[in-house]
Amino acid sequence: MLKGIAASKGYAIGKISIMTHQELTIDESTCESVELELTALKDAVVNSKEQLQALRVKTAENIGEHEAMVFDSHMMFLDDPEFVGAMEEAIQSEMKRAASAVEQVKLFFKNMFAQMDNAYMRERAADIVDVSNRIIKNILGISSEVNDLPENTIIVAHDLTPSDTAQLDKSKVIGFLTDIGGVTSHSAIMARSLEICAVVGMGDITSTVKNGMECIIDGIKGEVILSPDQETLEEYKSLAEAYRKKRIELKKYKDLKLAYKDGREILVAGNIGSVKDLDSVIENGADGIGLFRTEFVFMDRDVAPTEDEQFEIYKTVAERMSGKPVVIRTLDIGGDKQIPYLHLEQEMNPFLGLRAIRLCFKYEDMFKAQIKALLRAGVFGDVNIMLPMIGTIDEIRQAKKIIEKCKNELKEEGIPFKADTPVGIMIEIPAAAIAADILADEVDFFSIGTNDLIQYTLAVDRMNSNISHLYNPMNVSVLRLIEMSIKAAHKAGIWCGMCGEMAGDLRVTKTLLEMGLDEFSMSGSSILDVKELIYNELK
Ligand code: PEP
Ligand code: MG
Repeated sequence: MLKGIAASKGYAIGKISIMTHQELTIDESTCESVELELTALKDAVVNSKEQLQALRVKTAENIGEHEAMVFDSHMMFLDDPEFVGAMEEAIQSEMKRAASAVEQVKLFFKNMFAQMDNAYMRERAADIVDVSNRIIKNILGISSEVNDLPENTIIVAHDLTPSDTAQLDKSKVIGFLTDIGGVTSHSAIMARSLEICAVVGMGDITSTVKNGMECIIDGIKGEVILSPDQETLEEYKSLAEAYRKKRIELKKYKDLKLAYKDGREILVAGNIGSVKDLDSVIENGADGIGLFRTEFVFMDRDVAPTEDEQFEIYKTVAERMSGKPVVIRTLDIGGDKQIPYLHLEQEMNPFLGLRAIRLCFKYEDMFKAQIKALLRAGVFGDVNIMLPMIGTIDEIRQAKKIIEKCKNELKEEGIPFKADTPVGIMIEIPAAAIAADILADEVDFFSIGTNDLIQYTLAVDRMNSNISHLYNPMNVSVLRLIEMSIKAAHKAGIWCGMCGEMAGDLRVTKTLLEMGLDEFSMSGSSILDVKELIYNELK
């Protein structure tokens, strides 16, 4: 039995699949047979089409028609005689191997699209890269999908990036184990959203296990049992069954409206990173969305999404929440969330570096596209804009100026938007909590980001499993900062929520209620447990 950090609750009983990142190594030597290379290319194009067709259907079913449309444009490229023809030409005239011919044509078209004036066409560069890499992988016999996996798979990896986690198919992957990471690393947060059981910070699990090994994950205790005997297997099967029953029993709290004794309502909301996460949040009876981490919308692509693309996503979220409050946070890139196409400098301390709002001020056009999309989505629901990593009043004022600029541009463009969209901030830097009374006058709401607030207050890296015992939500300094923020918000007549993982931590729910927190926002999987506890505390 091995021990790690329990990152996402539940039990998983399945077989291990070790995930490693495979680089595409392309042989640039001349080929021996043009015919064979042409056939390899042709087969790879046919396979790619079949995969894309299947992905299209699956994405439309699981995520949405709009998200599925990206695969239409990929398939269009495969039908384009100029695109595939250029690959055949490179094989025939330059004796290139199929994969190297695809790589050459990919770079040519990518650069051509990237230089176009029209933003829509520029963004097709990402599709070119994506579809070309799929053909190359098919030629080289490398699987494109994380999800070409049997049912009941337990993924083992050194680390999973948030985008690896986002791609996991819940119908196949029932759990994951990683060498590194902590409870508030973003892959752990996503595991909770996806309701996939996970234990992280396991040290060296990758070299301890073998592919196909039987494994049990106890996501409650943070324990892992390899090659269990029959008796242990039976014991965990009944634990898993009891857990499943408890989840069903908790459903009775789904539509419960909670309030303090004085009638002030308490919202238990959900955190999401994509439209896909909405299902779990809605199923578990969220009173709204307290945090949409929009940076995930910017990942797994080669260029940033356009204003229109973002608008469609934010509108979908607003509409699906049917008038309930939806707090959408502007981009929080940096820290453990990186976006390759921004080519950001490597920093010594990325969590203290060019991150979130600081980065948005540097890339103002990208920020403006997001703000405009958010203002437009406000027409379709109760959208609230939230600014991350605010440390000073100047940052709020600078962001508000940009928001005003965006409103003026939308007005000139004649595009409908919600002019009085509320603007709030995250309280996740100690400086913001200490000056909460000053900042409260500038904004419409606060949401406390305890994941960062704890790490910055205690100087304990939230990702580092070596010091996870020091990462203590119950630390008096942390609790004082939280209380100060809630008090300052109420004094200024605004609401204060919490969207860090602490909002779903049952050990502190009572304390947060005593402080008068207005909104608790967490992964879908924790909502009902928190609703049950609040109900019992206040009844
Ligand atoms: C937080 O810091 O608590 C938070 C909610 O933001 P993130 O986890 O995305 O940094
Ligand atoms: Mg944060």
